[in-house]
Amino acid sequence: MPKSPSFDAKRASALATQVFESSIVPTLIEYIKIPNKSPGFDPDWERSGHMQRAMDLIVAWCRTRQIAGMRLEVVRLPGRTPLLFIEVPGAVDDTVLLYGHMDKQPEMTGWADGLGPWQPVLRGDRLYGRGGADDGYSTFASLASLEILQDQNVPHARCVVIIEGCEESGSGDLPAYIEHLRDRIGTPSLVVCLDSGAADYDRLWCTTSLRGMVIGNLQVDVLREGVHSGEASGIVPSSFRIARSLLDRLEDAKTGRILPEWLYAPTPKQRVEQARAMAGALGAGIASHYPWRGATRPVTDDAAELILNRTWRPQLAITGAGGLPPLGSAGNVLRAGTALRVSLRLPPGVDAETAKKRVVRLLTENPPYGAEVRFDSAEANDGWNAPELAPWLEAALHESSQAYFGASAAYMGEGGTIPFMAMLGLRFPDAQFLITGVLGPESNAHGPNEFLHIPTARKLTCCVAATIRAHALR
Ligand SMILES: [Zn+2]
Repeated sequence: MPKSPSFDAKRASALATQVFESSIVPTLIEYIKIPNKSPGFDPDWERSGHMQRAMDLIVAWCRTRQIAGMRLEVVRLPGRTPLLFIEVPGAVDDTVLLYGHMDKQPEMTGWADGLGPWQPVLRGDRLYGRGGADDGYSTFASLASLEILQDQNVPHARCVVIIEGCEESGSGDLPAYIEHLRDRIGTPSLVVCLDSGAADYDRLWCTTSLRGMVIGNLQVDVLREGVHSGEASGIVPSSFRIARSLLDRLEDAKTGRILPEWLYAPTPKQRVEQARAMAGALGAGIASHYPWRGATRPVTDDAAELILNRTWRPQLAITGAGGLPPLGSAGNVLRAGTALRVSLRLPPGVDAETAKKRVVRLLTENPPYGAEVRFDSAEANDGWNAPELAPWLEAALHESSQAYFGASAAYMGEGGTIPFMAMLGLRFPDAQFLITGVLGPESNAHGPNEFLHIPTARKLTCCVAATIRAHALR
């Protein structure tokens, strides 16, 4: 055990500011310009070369860093997205795994005037553009946190940084890499993930749980080709109505409650209490940052229920459609079929593979009127619930949040999915997790007007450094 060397928070802060301003933000500006969409949204990703360009940019930046003994490799398994693997030797016989991803969500519509997905725009503290916050900054923040430690000769454990290129497509390539790199990864006792959310920009937010998901395309076909709706309606059942009635098997359309009991898992008592505490602290503010239209309001007034809905309950969203012409070219046609992209979030603790099989059966068995119904491209990812926080980690999070944000750390469940965390949780049951991120109010990852809140990224980087230090000292 190394003796406790001093660690100057001011100096750490100053270095983070300098590295972000002089180097990270300018590189992120270049990174945002590259449309390196995740393979699920760009099946032609390999030929289009954007992933390669983004990886080259990131690697070139990494090579400029002054980190003792750093070894860096872009690992490529055949037919899979590349993975950046970085090893930094440590003074302590232990391993920290830092994780992020460099693939991006697709463009999405609705960007404000002057903003666009591949158009970096710096406004005040915000850097707008796709993939800066989700999750382009992660490689930079990971290495900067090590630079901060080495700048003050603070000992740390061996660190392994994994940046994948497939997260937004469900991390399908990742298990093969983890297997391939198994010996080089070792057994991490601390996992740091920089791909999560924050409820505000005023403190360090630690993610206590993630939801899983089942996604796929519900395809309903009734005809071989569309026919005049005046001629056919009343005789041929509408594929849209059949799709609606199939979804009614899954969800109560009036309340949004998911119906099958097998899609629920018990919520741990402590998580319910944390949701209540957070609801008490944030109140109606919990939903105020959404870009509401008109008089639209949340599904309930009860803030704790909203938090639990978002983090520990299954919920349905229809994220895309097929078989529907755009409004301007929609003739009076009873269409041949309707396809809906079904995105079903799952509570932590629900086995996603089993849920997927049952959802497929639920939606496709005994279709009304004998229509042709399929559920295509189905994928499943497990959710995750954090292990109990070790006292050393709790103290480190508290102290670093105080030091860099000037407020206590806070804990919350997230409604999104990070497939790798569930994999790691199973593989390394004794590891502690710091899952955090910059996806705070309005940052809108996946939607239009995504931005990186630069001061938060900077402070987070210092908190990660302080946590890695505390890990080595524990
Ligand atoms: Zn992400």
